Parts: sequence; structure tokens; C-alpha cells
Amino acid sequence: MSDDCLFCKIIAGDIPSDKVYADDYVYAFRDINPAAPHHVLIIPKKHMANVSDADDPDEALMGKLLLKANLIAKQEGLCAGGFRYVINTGIDGGQTVGHLHLHILGGRTMRWPPG
Ligand code: 5GP
Ligand code: ZN
Repeated sequence: MSDDCLFCKIIAGDIPSDKVYADDYVYAFRDINPAAPHHVLIIPKKHMANVSDADDPDEALMGKLLLKANLIAKQEGLCAGGFRYVINTGIDGGQTVGHLHLHILGGRTMRWPPG
């Protein structure tokens, strides 16, 4: 938990969110400004600034993040039509919230990326 992190506050319930999935390791919720008909963010409960911060001890956690994203994509009914995962990283990568998050985007009218 990082005291000044927006997504840590969401995990803690201090900031409300539209929860999609949670377990001991990850938390998933709907993006407040959806860029697609289905736009879910899945994050590790452990605070990590971005994906580059993940190291060998995080191997299992990174695996869980991806596999639970798959579960959510299935729950959202996206598997037949397809979907997109995005992890923006750092300023040049367009990251605006400093807690690792994987975007799950699905539906016919995705606005971003690549447009
Ligand atoms: P990034 O640009 O860092 O890859 O993505 C951050 C995402 O977090 C954006 O898509 C933005 O809409 C979303 N976001 C920012 N603040 C909040 C919030 O308070 N609640 C929710 N649910 N999403 C947020
Ligand atoms: Zn955090």
C-alpha cells in the first residue's frame, strides 16, 4: 500500500469503484472513463509503480494478473469477438496512474489505442 496512490486507495475501499473481480492478489474494476464498451482495469494488490518494477519474486503475481485478466475477458463475454490488453508504462508510454494496471478493452467501438 502506498499512501499517495489512487489505485491503492481504490483497493482499500477509500475511493469507490465498480468492482468486477477481487481475490487475495488482484483487484479489477471498471475504468471511470471507458475507451471501449468493455473497459476493465486489473491491478495487483501489491503496490508496484509499473510493469518495469516487477522482478523475479513477482513471477507468480504477474502470471495471476494475466490469467485473471483472461477470466474477466471471459466473464465479460469478450472471447468470441476478441479483445485487447494494454499496459501503459511511464510517461512516454502514456501511463497516468502510478500503480501497475492492465487495461482489458473489448467491444466493437474501441477508441484507444491505436484508434
Ligand atoms: P493509464 O493512462 O495510466 O494507462 O490509465 C489510467 C486509467 O485509470 C485511465 O483509463 C483512467 O480513466 C482510469 N482512472 C483514473 N482515475 C480513476 C478512478 O478514480 N477510478 C477509475 N475507476 N478509473 C480511473
Ligand atoms: Zn498503489
